[in-house]
Amino acid sequence: MATAVEPSFRDSVDLMYGRAVKLLDLSPGLEEKIRVCNSTYVVRFGVRLRGQIHTFTGYRSVHSEHMEPVKGGIRYAPTVNQDEVEALAALMTYKCALVQIPFGGSKGGLCIDPREWEEHELERITRRFAYELIKRDLINPSQNVPAPDMGTGEREMAWIADQYARMHTTDINAAACVTGKPVHAGGIAGRVEATGRGVQYALREFFRYPEDVRRAHLSGGLDGKRIIVQGLGNVGFHAAQFLSLEDGAKITGIIERDGAIYSEDGLDVLSVKEWISRQGGVKGYPFATFISDGSKLLETECDILIPAAMEGVINLDNAAQVKAPLIVEAANGPITAGADEILRQKGVVILPDMYANAGGVTVSYFEWVGNLSHIKFGRMERRQEEARHRLLVDELERLAADKGLDWTLSPGFKEQYLRGAGEIEHVRSGLDDTMREAYQSMREIWNGRGDVHDLRMAAYMVAIGRVATAYRSKGL
Ligand code: NAD
Repeated sequence: MATAVEPSFRDSVDLMYGRAVKLLDLSPGLEEKIRVCNSTYVVRFGVRLRGQIHTFTGYRSVHSEHMEPVKGGIRYAPTVNQDEVEALAALMTYKCALVQIPFGGSKGGLCIDPREWEEHELERITRRFAYELIKRDLINPSQNVPAPDMGTGEREMAWIADQYARMHTTDINAAACVTGKPVHAGGIAGRVEATGRGVQYALREFFRYPEDVRRAHLSGGLDGKRIIVQGLGNVGFHAAQFLSLEDGAKITGIIERDGAIYSEDGLDVLSVKEWISRQGGVKGYPFATFISDGSKLLETECDILIPAAMEGVINLDNAAQVKAPLIVEAANGPITAGADEILRQKGVVILPDMYANAGGVTVSYFEWVGNLSHIKFGRMERRQEEARHRLLVDELERLAADKGLDWTLSPGFKEQYLRGAGEIEHVRSGLDDTMREAYQSMREIWNGRGDVHDLRMAAYMVAIGRVATAYRSKGL
């Protein structure tokens, strides 16, 4: 009997794209134009470190330039390859279109295990990689704007921004060449938490529709739901932290590189994170059961499974055993095309990556806009807003006193109502709005068309439809 072969990540994205375009009315030419990756630049560069020259390989793919700049993270991992970077660049195109962010799709990667290098060495490697991309306009505020991804963060983005500024000393918009920078170096409040926050907003929106919740064989709201998270990095940590602290969900399992931990009563996410920072993994964490084969926890019973580490973790080998009725793809491509088919047949509802992890690029967009406008969100209106609210509160209290009424506004309400919105409030509001609108555009197709049975297909259809409209209006 022939065993099923797992398609590559790139092929998985193509397969899903192929399924979606069958349901859309596109000309074959336009269908192919949207599918293909416009270009991939491969660079090999040497850096003298530890007394010898080390050669590194990096990539920057541009999938679609129907809107510019193009946008997408830079990932550092030893497994980075062209297939992966191109698949991720394609996902960026669709993701930006789905959440209505005016960017095309791109992605970059460097084959490196960042844990093998000291900070000052990583800085030299990053600056050199950035130099190679900047001189070809593959990092540029109006053409191509990277962001953090797996293995990179604020620190690397600050080095890249500084490298660009050194090479473009008179560019007043230099800071907009990259997003995900530290707040003190042109970043925006709420970018670090953004992708995890977006996962939370995505789930909140999903649970606002009881009929959608029923399709996942669940009921009620997020309160008390048992959640298993894979990867307690930037995305997984923030999602787990917000869902447990603010929505009453129970994080029953956490899967990391060295194994997994499980507790029916729920885990204290911050204390697990602190344990990992100190010990390098989850092993030995005192208030939970340790499972050395961590991936087994992907098959454990829970209400919501959140893979937030890497691609391909739910595949032909384990998809049939997955018991979660609802999966949120916080990572990019955690479910292979083969596994997706199995899960769909089982009736599992999947919030697809293109939607579920769009919080990062959404807040990156706000950061880029802030860099170009050279002013922080909320700076002009915050105190004015506070003054107007103060006017109303004072007037209400004066009226109550005049009428001899024995009532006052509760202090909690007053404090909250009087506080004007600063940058973080603007960012969260914009992100919440984005996640709600995007979900609504998907569910309209999911619930409204008899031939669309999953949210991924709906997401692809919304996104491809928008990219097609953009190309058509350019006369293509
Ligand atoms: P990260 O490097 O901060 O965290 C990844 C975490 O996963 C780490 O804690 C790591 O130890 C763990 N991990 C790695 N391999 C694992 C394995 N085999 N099993 C279990 N755990 C493992 O990365 P991140 O930024 O949180 O990104 C995670 C995923 O989310 C990636 O797929 C990335 O493309 C996607 N994503 C990230 C962002 C963002 O803003 N950071 C935005 C969109 C999508």
